[in-house]
Amino acid sequence: MNPMKKYLFIFVLLLAATGANAQTRTCPRCHRTGYIYKPGTWRHPLNKVTCPACKGTGYMPGHEPAPKPPRTPDDEMAIQVTRWLQLNQVPVQTTCTICRGTGVCNVCKGSGYSYDSYGPMPCMMCKATKKCTTCGGNRVIQGWRQMTAAERQKYEAWMRNYLKRKAN
Ligand SMILES: [Zn+2]
Ligand SMILES: [Zn+2]
Ligand SMILES: [Zn+2]
Repeated sequence: MNPMKKYLFIFVLLLAATGANAQTRTCPRCHRTGYIYKPGTWRHPLNKVTCPACKGTGYMPGHEPAPKPPRTPDDEMAIQVTRWLQLNQVPVQTTCTICRGTGVCNVCKGSGYSYDSYGPMPCMMCKATKKCTTCGGNRVIQGWRQMTAAERQKYEAWMRNYLKRKAN
């Protein structure tokens, strides 16, 4: 790899790293502990005070990791069924037309590299993952089709049962 390209590549990697960091940016004042020691005091538990920079969360405002609500498989199903009923459609998997079901990147043909006058460099399409970017290497893509009347009845009945289970 020529030096200029090498630097560009590292720069892209750095951007990706800082981008991921920004989502859950920790508090630089307390280093995520949520507390600091009162200025001018010993590092003693009695001298701990809530970090004023992050108000004790350990994360910068707006950068706290999203709380994960506890969901059961039943709840997950209910979320899906609600969506299907709203759309009046059900998911259907079809063979990926971009890679023709191979799951392999169709630009580099699965080598992970593309070539220019400088020689090989990571494939711009799949970023050297070698996977088809359309199906993510899954060989199939998620599509939708109209829900049949029978399916609608089935899912509505499932939903009623779910709501009953939740109420109890
Ligand atoms: Zn803090
Ligand atoms: Zn590729
Ligand atoms: Zn594909």
